[in-house]
Amino acid sequence: METVSDYFGSQVFDDRVMKATLPAKVYNSLKKTMDEGVPLDVSVANAVANAMKDWAVARGATHYTHWFQPLTGITAEKHDSFITPSPDGGVIMEFSGKELIQGEPDASSFPSGGIRATFEARGYTAWDPTSYAFIKGKTLCIPTAFCSYGGEALDKKTPLLRSMAALNKQALRILRLFGNTTAKTVRSSVGSEQEYFLVTKEAFDKRPDLRYTGRTLFGAKPPKGQQLEDHYFGVIKPAVAAYMEDLNKELWKLGILAKTEHNEVAPAQHEIAPIYTTTNMATDQNQLMMEIMQKVAARHGLVCLLHEKPFAGVNGSGKHNNWSIATDTGVNLMAPGETPYENAQFLLFLCAVIQAVDDYQDLLRLSVATAGNDHRLGANEAPPAVVSIFLGDELNAVLEALETGAPYKGAEKKTLKLGVDVLPKFPQDSTDRNRTSPFAFTGNKFEFRMLGSSNSIACANMMLNAAVAESLMKYADVLEKASDFKSALHDLICQTIRDHKRIIFNGNGYDESWIKEATEVRGLLNYRTTPDCMPRLLDKKNVDMLTRHGVFTEVELKSRCEIMLENYCKSVLIEANAMTEMAKTLIAPAALAYTFEVAKTAEAKKALAPDLPCAYETELVKKLSAVADAIAVRTEALEDAIVQVEEIEDVIPQSEAIRDSLIPKMVELRVVCDKAETITAKKFWPYPTYGDLLFGV
Ligand code: ADP
Ligand code: MG
Repeated sequence: METVSDYFGSQVFDDRVMKATLPAKVYNSLKKTMDEGVPLDVSVANAVANAMKDWAVARGATHYTHWFQPLTGITAEKHDSFITPSPDGGVIMEFSGKELIQGEPDASSFPSGGIRATFEARGYTAWDPTSYAFIKGKTLCIPTAFCSYGGEALDKKTPLLRSMAALNKQALRILRLFGNTTAKTVRSSVGSEQEYFLVTKEAFDKRPDLRYTGRTLFGAKPPKGQQLEDHYFGVIKPAVAAYMEDLNKELWKLGILAKTEHNEVAPAQHEIAPIYTTTNMATDQNQLMMEIMQKVAARHGLVCLLHEKPFAGVNGSGKHNNWSIATDTGVNLMAPGETPYENAQFLLFLCAVIQAVDDYQDLLRLSVATAGNDHRLGANEAPPAVVSIFLGDELNAVLEALETGAPYKGAEKKTLKLGVDVLPKFPQDSTDRNRTSPFAFTGNKFEFRMLGSSNSIACANMMLNAAVAESLMKYADVLEKASDFKSALHDLICQTIRDHKRIIFNGNGYDESWIKEATEVRGLLNYRTTPDCMPRLLDKKNVDMLTRHGVFTEVELKSRCEIMLENYCKSVLIEANAMTEMAKTLIAPAALAYTFEVAKTAEAKKALAPDLPCAYETELVKKLSAVADAIAVRTEALEDAIVQVEEIEDVIPQSEAIRDSLIPKMVELRVVCDKAETITAKKFWPYPTYGDLLFGV
């Protein structure tokens, strides 16, 4: 029987394959590029390209593609064949180092926020040797970064790689101060837990809203939703189990270590999590995973919904970004160590995260902002839109003791001395302990929980890496100059706790009183929607920090802000248009057809015997007519709002008009349409209901 180890990673040009297929010299120099960022020379690229091609062709590949992550949010690829005609009339399979290193996709169709217009029309893709190439179908996919000819990043990968380089640089400065001379690199790692819904393809196809937008724009509440919470960790249904089994196998072939899988709180909702890896690989893997999830679903007659809010009134889907930083020598800098010295180092890195999250709350918030995620954050099911950090009681007590110099509450009740005392072991938080915190310390990593299920994890991680690099840079600047390292370190940690403790909150994040305290007492930011937070990307403090660490140029930031807002406007406008279409061509006609049937029934009864009671029919016809009228009025109001919004040229006011006038009209139209659903006979209703969708698999 075939075992997992027989096929695990069989579609990936990973370290095992490189070692086996590349000459030792080539392998070593490629490794140096991968691990230390040493530039690659052409002869090495040629040798790698050739080995990659032979390996891929032996596995049935005929094409290759530069696989990249433009700002549309999905991945893009342009396939080229390996085939080159040979002089004897046949063909040979060729792939050069040049083709491996650089590609030129037709860039004009990808969003650039004006960058390409100002600089140069073309864009190019550049091989990212730090992430493995893989085979998908008959195509060798080469992970690449996507830039304009002026060098501006047009994708999500480039700034992510730059943020990792910035973090590496500053973290190494700190490690050297602690006497670490062996670590060569420091990298952030991520494990992302991915939530999703499964519905049947049959039901999906009958819903224009799902087909156009990935979420239901209408739908009355079913009698049973998630009240019983009987789905969470419940028995997995056979159809779903078959899907998960197939999905795991496909992911394993691609070297993605998908490990856990279980049902989520909402009916039809599930979760999958791969084992964590370096952030750039984790990003590629998550993009690939989302794609494979949808592909495998199709094979099972299912559709995998990755939208943040496919169903109103039912939990939405998020993504938990488990983040830590570690040295190439295997030390996790987010884990308390075994010795007092390591613990002092841990506390400094911990402070760096606390300060980063406090100083750049806005960047973290906007890194997860999309029209879809606006439905979740702050809606009492996902973390609030206010960013805060959960540390847990033990760690919190340590920080308090340090800050105040008061005796630590541990067994011996003595004052904590940095560099002298060993910290207690912090229990690894089970996710149930505090599910409401946007940013939770979980023993040896932080879990950033604000990401939406369809978000690329690149955005959150580039901001997180950059902000932490900034804290570390400030610390290194101080500590490198200190005459007494230990006391300077102690002062720095205590000062940081004092300055940034407002961001630490260990209570219930869903509580209304927390939002009041957070905003009114602590002065934390509360950006409820994408138009609220996205323009903050261009605030001076953010531009200064991101450009200082080389993560973005100012031009890139301007373009990014524009593209993200444009994406927001486009998605909501598509939804609004889908709503008016459905209301006019499906919902109102269904209500009218049923009205006619009821009226005819009354008429038939009267013909039979004039004194037969028809109060039910009369009342129903009145109700249906009233609802149909309301649908007409509200559809027209929404149509007017669409026209007005579309006329606004500048993207910031456009996004604000969408938030303030378009979305409320969408909500109003939905209310009456959902009302119509509850009083119209099922056989007249033109598409599957929430009950059909949520309990159909
Ligand atoms: P949970 O209690 O949330 O289920 P797990 O320990 O199972 O936590 O981890 C959830 C995710 O976090 C997984 O993807 C896992 O690989 C990842 N993870 C575990 N340790 C780390 C770490 N040190 N750094 C980054 N991610 C990690
Ligand atoms: Mg989790």
